[in-house]
Amino acid sequence: MIRDYDAVIAGAGFAGAVSARKLAEAGKKVLILEKRNHIGGNAYDYCDENHVLRHEYGPHIFHTNSEKAVAFLSRFTDWFDYEHRVLGWIEGRLVPIPFNLTSIEMLFEKEKADHLKSVLISAYGMGKKVPILELRKNPDPEINELAEYIFEHVFKYYTMKQWGYTAEEIDPAVTARVPVLVSYDDRYFQDSFQKMPKDGYTAIFEKMLDHPNITVRLNTDAADHITVDTENKKVLADGEPYDGIVIYTGLADHLLKYCLGDLSYRSLEFDVQSHDGDYQPATTVNYPTSAEIHPYTRISEYKKMMFNPPAERTTVAVEYPYVYNRTGEKGNVPYYPVFTEESKGRYQAYTDLLKGISNLYLLGRLAEYRYYNMDAIVERALEFTDEILKH
Ligand SMILES: Cc1cc2nc3c(=O)[nH]c(=O)nc-3n(C[C@H](O)[C@H](O)[C@H](O)COP(=O)(O)OP(=O)(O)OC[C@H]3O[C@@H](n4cnc5c(N)ncnc54)[C@H](O)[C@@H]3O)c2cc1C
Repeated sequence: MIRDYDAVIAGAGFAGAVSARKLAEAGKKVLILEKRNHIGGNAYDYCDENHVLRHEYGPHIFHTNSEKAVAFLSRFTDWFDYEHRVLGWIEGRLVPIPFNLTSIEMLFEKEKADHLKSVLISAYGMGKKVPILELRKNPDPEINELAEYIFEHVFKYYTMKQWGYTAEEIDPAVTARVPVLVSYDDRYFQDSFQKMPKDGYTAIFEKMLDHPNITVRLNTDAADHITVDTENKKVLADGEPYDGIVIYTGLADHLLKYCLGDLSYRSLEFDVQSHDGDYQPATTVNYPTSAEIHPYTRISEYKKMMFNPPAERTTVAVEYPYVYNRTGEKGNVPYYPVFTEESKGRYQAYTDLLKGISNLYLLGRLAEYRYYNMDAIVERALEFTDEILKH
């Protein structure tokens, strides 16, 4: 019975699991309801038939500047050094992404490359990260020509394939995530902590949830058990009023039975393939070409981000973006929120319906309808539960 617990949490991803552990350590009895048949949320990984640690929902790379997130997670895992590098297929060559000074050297003949590099360095300074939309606004004709080249070959088609919108139509924060680097640093991230969990992510969740005060029920849709009486501002657990803590990390529209319509998401499908030996020279190779040339956006080779990878076989995932359709055969997993004025307004309207229900909290990338990296949601869940425990 849900009412036997001090707290009920919907979802066993980072948001739910970190909150559960914190509440459990504060003496609360916690029940987690998880819709899927496994814990870990989108960070779920497992050892596949090739002895490769496969990331079921796409490659997850840990990188952070948050000491708080690292200190907490380090209670449940050892780490190994891993710096992520991505190559991009540009005019038949594989060059570093984010686009940097090495990419220029690989794509232009020496004299032109040397000139372009010095123009960029004197305009922005060595080490600067420049969002592509800012670079495109530079009035210097040489920088502008380079900016248009980079835009065309790195951003334009990738963005269209990934989002179904042009780079100009989407939130500039999205393209700013992968800036142009005025440096030779070919790492994808520049964070101070770049390590991967030695035994993978699922192992972290197993340890985190292994606490006498935590019970996990898999294959259970929380929305079948937790309902909200929006008029009387009450949460019901299996039809009875419940005044314990409710942390909901699923979709807000699902909790409210889609009464205001669906929230927009972008989905993905992965074509997972097995090969002998090694497949490609980097963990991830991006294909920022038009859909006619490469209909997928990127290929990731999981064993390249594994501690002790197997030599004989390899597993790769070819990634195809999809329009999200919750009842469709494909594209039915909500991966990335698509922020349009309409979808932002709809999310706001859903949260308005929940306002005033003092024991119900929306937490995480689905419930808050925003993108979080893993470190960010860990830190947020830690701070969030501290706040709840103060009341
Ligand atoms: C393709 C992709 C790649 C990514 N790569 C990286 C990366 O490299 N590095 C990084 O730091 N971050 C990455 N992220 C972000 C990372 O996945 C998120 O930070 C993390 O998943 C957020 O955790 P969460 O608990 O909020 O959500 P989730 O991990 O999605 O967990 C939510 C859980 O709730 C469950 N649930 C939903 N609805 C219900 C319900 N009604 N009842 C019961 N259970 C429910 C879901 O099944 C799920 O298990 C990536 C995200 C995507 C989409």
